[in-house]
Amino acid sequence: MDIVRTVVELRSHVSAWRKDGLTISLVPTMGSLHAGHLSLMKVGKEKSDKVIASIFVNPLQFAPDEDFETYPREENCDILKLVEEGVDLLFAPNVNEMYRQNSKTTINVGGLTDCLCALSRPGFFDGVATVVTKLLLQALPDIAIFGEKDYQQLLVIKRFTTDLDIPVEIVGAPTIREKDGLALSSRNIYLDPKSRSIAPSMFSILSQHASNISNGSDIKKSLKLARQNMHDLGFDKIDYLDLRNSQTLETCSDLKRPSRLFAAAWLGSTRLIDNLTVT
Ligand code: AMP
Repeated sequence: MDIVRTVVELRSHVSAWRKDGLTISLVPTMGSLHAGHLSLMKVGKEKSDKVIASIFVNPLQFAPDEDFETYPREENCDILKLVEEGVDLLFAPNVNEMYRQNSKTTINVGGLTDCLCALSRPGFFDGVATVVTKLLLQALPDIAIFGEKDYQQLLVIKRFTTDLDIPVEIVGAPTIREKDGLALSSRNIYLDPKSRSIAPSMFSILSQHASNISNGSDIKKSLKLARQNMHDLGFDKIDYLDLRNSQTLETCSDLKRPSRLFAAAWLGSTRLIDNLTVT
């Protein structure tokens, strides 16, 4: 696997592959790779001839009080995992390469960013949309793959690539979980043993209430009970636990359109998110 740190080197690999008529997938990540990230690389390998992974801890998507400085960075380990996965190229730029001096442009997506994670993380989606736009324009892949674990992010990325006519297919891939149901996340290492034992109950509560709602339980009552269950099991603060339209993220009062349950909650200083479809 080649490793490049500049846009010029990235483009030179891409144009050589293009000359050979090869198709290309891009998998953007912030590193500290786990089986969830690697599942996206596998999708890339299935869908295209060449896979580029990027690792960039994007300062633009962290609020001043968030963990940009301490976010886990494990590039050597990540490289071994990517090689094992058969990834063809790692693009790992530094902050100056990504945001040159005097960089003044950000991407703001309307509609989808006035709810859920946007409320507790102002500026987060602008940061994500800006860096993903740049990565897509730098690499110009045929396909870019993102996890449904960050479902709102996936919708935002689909929205702006459509709105900006960026010629790429955005592919969503299912959430990979620990055996006990906890969605894999680079931040799970922050959980102390007690929090780690509570964390999987986010998924079990969502699953239970998704099934109750599918079976006809009153939606408002189920959501209230689910929030209560999370409090009772030890979650410190619930940012949201909502049933939303899977495409528009508007709140749902029935199951006439495809819907998902979304939750974000805190265990100590760690914020967990999860979502699942309600059939
Ligand atoms: P991150 O490094 O957290 O920015 O994530 C990079 C990509 O991996 C994003 O598209 C995430 O949605 C995806 N991802 C993170 N966790 C998981 C997971 N447990 N299962 C599948 N995809 C994931």
